[in-house]
Amino acid sequence: MQLDEIKISKAIIESFNKKLIDALDVDVAIVGAGPAGMVCGYYLAKANKKVVLFERKLSVGGGMWGGGIMFNEIVVQAAAKRILDDFGVKSRLYEKGYYLADSIESVSVICSKAVQAGLRIFNLISVEDVMVRSKKVTGLVLNWTAVEMANLHVDPITMRAKFVVDATGHPAEVARIVERKSGIRLETKTGKTMGEESMWAEVGEDTIVKNSKEICPGLYACGMCANAVFGGPRMGPVFGGMLLAGEHVAKDLLKVL
Ligand SMILES: Cc1cc2nc3c(=O)[nH]c(=O)nc-3n(C[C@H](O)[C@H](O)[C@H](O)COP(=O)(O)OP(=O)(O)OC[C@H]3O[C@@H](n4cnc5c(N)ncnc54)[C@H](O)[C@@H]3O)c2cc1C
Repeated sequence: MQLDEIKISKAIIESFNKKLIDALDVDVAIVGAGPAGMVCGYYLAKANKKVVLFERKLSVGGGMWGGGIMFNEIVVQAAAKRILDDFGVKSRLYEKGYYLADSIESVSVICSKAVQAGLRIFNLISVEDVMVRSKKVTGLVLNWTAVEMANLHVDPITMRAKFVVDATGHPAEVARIVERKSGIRLETKTGKTMGEESMWAEVGEDTIVKNSKEICPGLYACGMCANAVFGGPRMGPVFGGMLLAGEHVAKDLLKVL
């Protein structure tokens, strides 16, 4: 059989169009495919919710690939090991309470399990704005990352979600857009994003899970973003908090969906 390039092009265009149109009205839209966003998406998809995730970069995984300082091992504390087990990521005991996993295996297994559970991931798409109605975040404004990088004057498209999850890591991009543009007060002491504090793994890992919650009507913070919003410390290459935060937000959302 001869391969027809036009058929290949048509297959891609038709299939992607269908996928994108289907993603325009969902239960939950997650921004950022780091560990927190993907874990959150996995548990929602597993519960049969319609959930999509938009990632700016070509690859998923956020900051997890590089472990600590590009040594591709991650450390996970005892409390989060069961999540690695849940996904089937191999981990091994280092010392009591400290487990190690390969960061490449962690990202790839978490991603594949999430996609197989029904999470629809769109890479190369940047969230540049939010949709707000009656002081509630009701959706996202999307553009190609290539448009953003080339600084082209190209209008974005919009999608609707019952709930949005900001899992954009340190920059807390969605929360900052809401703060800057919508006039909505965030559920922090100041009503605004407070900015993350210096490294303190023990406190950071604990607060990241507590801070991963609804930060204004329709919008949840999840993972590193949550400490950037509420002013908790960063924690470096211990990743249990990110996994637990993803699970925590998914559980909260399942109560209200
Ligand atoms: C590229 C990168 C490399 C890092 N390297 C290290 C490291 O080597 N060692 C270390 O200790 N920590 C590193 N970090 C930080 C650490 O990994 C994070 O604290 C941890 O990964 C946080 O997990 P998270 O899921 O909350 O967010 P992240 O892993 O940071 O993932 C956030 C994701 O959101 C995406 N995103 C952000 N804004 C938008 C938007 N507007 N639209 C669409 N997508 C968006 C980002 O591209 C990213 O993939 C890195 C972070 C990043 C982003």
